Amino acid sequence: MAEQLLAKKTVRDVPTTGRTVLVRCDFNVPMDDGHVKDDTRLRAHMPTIEYLIGQRARIVLCSHLGRPKGRTPGLSLRPIAGVLQDLLQRPVQFCPDTIGPRARRAADGLLPGGILLLENTRFYPEEERNDPAFSRALAALGDLYVDDAFSAAHRAHASTAGVAAFLPAVAGLLMEQEIAMLSRLLDPERPFVAIVGGAKVSDKLGVLEGLLQRVDKLLVGGGMANTFLAALGHRMGSSLVETGHLRAASDIIAKAKERGVDLLLPVDLVVADYFLAEPDRRTVDVGQVPPDWIAMDIGPVTAERFAVALRDAKTIFWNGPLGVAEWPNFANGTLQVARAIAECKAFSVVGGGDSIAALNRLGLAGRIGHISTGGGASLEFLEGKQLPGIAALQDK
Ligand code: ADP
Ligand code: MG
Repeated sequence: MAEQLLAKKTVRDVPTTGRTVLVRCDFNVPMDDGHVKDDTRLRAHMPTIEYLIGQRARIVLCSHLGRPKGRTPGLSLRPIAGVLQDLLQRPVQFCPDTIGPRARRAADGLLPGGILLLENTRFYPEEERNDPAFSRALAALGDLYVDDAFSAAHRAHASTAGVAAFLPAVAGLLMEQEIAMLSRLLDPERPFVAIVGGAKVSDKLGVLEGLLQRVDKLLVGGGMANTFLAALGHRMGSSLVETGHLRAASDIIAKAKERGVDLLLPVDLVVADYFLAEPDRRTVDVGQVPPDWIAMDIGPVTAERFAVALRDAKTIFWNGPLGVAEWPNFANGTLQVARAIAECKAFSVVGGGDSIAALNRLGLAGRIGHISTGGGASLEFLEGKQLPGIAALQDK
C-alpha cells in the first residue's frame, strides 16, 4: 500500500514552465478579526509555491477557510493574500470570486511567476457537494492541477478531488512529503510505538484499529483512556466516559491481546474535584477515583512507564494530549511523553492540532521527525483508508 501511495506523480514530474497551474492549498488558518493568528499552514505550502515561481509558472491558488454558509465576510481569504505576499516577498493578487469570468480574466492576465489567490472555495455550496460543474469551472482557470492540501485530502470536495476529472492532477511538494513520511508508519521500522490520547475514544476507534495491525506497543492516555478503564470495571467518578463505547474499548483490549500488542493504560491518574484550571487535585491509583472527581491527566507513574516504553522505539506516532494539557496543572503527562519522544532516536511523527499546540508550548516541535499538517487526514491515512484527494492524482 505504501508503495502504491508513493507512486503518485508530483509537480516535479510534469512540465510547469509557462503553464497556468491551479494549486489547492490548505490556508485554513486560525483568524482573529481579519488577522492570521498562526501562519504554520501558510508556510507549509511555501516549497510548492516557490518551486512554481522558479519554474516561471502562472500560479492560481485556492483554498477553503472555516465553515461558511455562503459568502461570509469574516471568512474571506483576502487577508491571506497579504500574509502570503510578505512570506513570498512578491505581489499576490486577490480575486473576490473563486470561479467565473472575473476569476478567468485574473488568471488569464497572470505573467510567468505571477500569483493569484482565489476567494474561499466554501463560499460556494457546490464545493462540499463535489459538484462537477463547479469542478469544471475551477479547472477552466488552469491547465494543470496541483494538490498540496494533504490536510483536506480525506474530503471528496470539488477543489480537492472533483477537479482532477477535468485537469491532469499531480501532488504538490507538501502533499508528497506528507505521503512519504506517513507511509513510513505503514511499513515501520520496529519496535513501532503509538501513543494516542485526546478527549474521546469514539473519534479515534478507526485509527486505534488501524494501529493495532502495525504497532508493537500502544499507549493510551487522555480522556479516551477513561472509557478503557471503565470497560475494565474501574469506577471513574465524574470523568469523561463514553458509556456507548465500552464494548468498542473491550474489543480493542481483546484484539491487542490476540495480536500480541502491548497495550499500556494508565495505572495512576491526576484527578480534580471540578473541571477547572485550578481545582483541588490529587494523584490516585486507577480504581481509587473518588465519586464525583474527574480524571484530568495520567499520573507520574504512568508517565514514567510510557517514557520507558518509548525508549527503545525505532518508530513513534503520537496523536492526542494525555490530559487536559491546555491547563498547566494537567499538562505533566503530555510534557513527559513529549520529552521522551524528543529524546528518543526513533523516527517520530506527531499529528493533531492540540498535540502540535502542546509541542509548540513546550518548545519541542523542532525535535520531532515529522509534524503532520493533517489532523483528520493523517488519522484516516493510518487507518489504511484511501484518501479521495490522493486517489484522484495521476500515478507515476
Ligand atoms: P488532537 O487535536 O491532538 O487530535 P484531540 O482533539 O483528540 O487531540 O484531543 C484534545 C482534547 O482532549 C483537548 O481539548 C484536551 O483538553 C482533551 N482531553 C485530554 N484529556 C482529557 C481528559 N482526561 N478529560 C477531558 N478532556 C481531555
Ligand atoms: Mg483537536
